[in-house]
Amino acid sequence: MLKLAQSHYDSLRQHGEETYPNECCGVLLGQMEGDQRTVTSVARCGNTRNDSPHNRYHIDPKELIRIQREGRERGEDIVGFYHSHPDHPPRWSPTDLAEAHWFGCSYVITSVEKGKAAVTNSFELTGTDENDKKLLDEKIEIS
Ligand SMILES: [Zn+2]
Repeated sequence: MLKLAQSHYDSLRQHGEETYPNECCGVLLGQMEGDQRTVTSVARCGNTRNDSPHNRYHIDPKELIRIQREGRERGEDIVGFYHSHPDHPPRWSPTDLAEAHWFGCSYVITSVEKGKAAVTNSFELTGTDENDKKLLDEKIEIS
């Protein structure tokens, strides 16, 4: 389960509207307890995909390391990632699964239809390695 505040939920959905028709992406920071992830801050990232930004996203590894370090200084860990699907359903694609490597983290996808955030879903990356990994539906709880 992914728990986040209304303001964080609104922020990641709004990010998808701002970058439309391109994908947005960002990192969710907070605490992990068992299979529950609680978000305490949201870090927006630039989408570094220049070849196909409308249906791909990529977070600069340097930016990710900086976000992780700054989070740790505040006592936060990376608990998930989010991106948007402009004019596509809020379901993960084979590419999303292939590029997901953080086991136990949440992958949040928001569909943005004609510039308006529509549905937001979350998926947990489970498995033990790259060969048996899966993205499973998980509940989002807004507090
Ligand atoms: Zn995607």
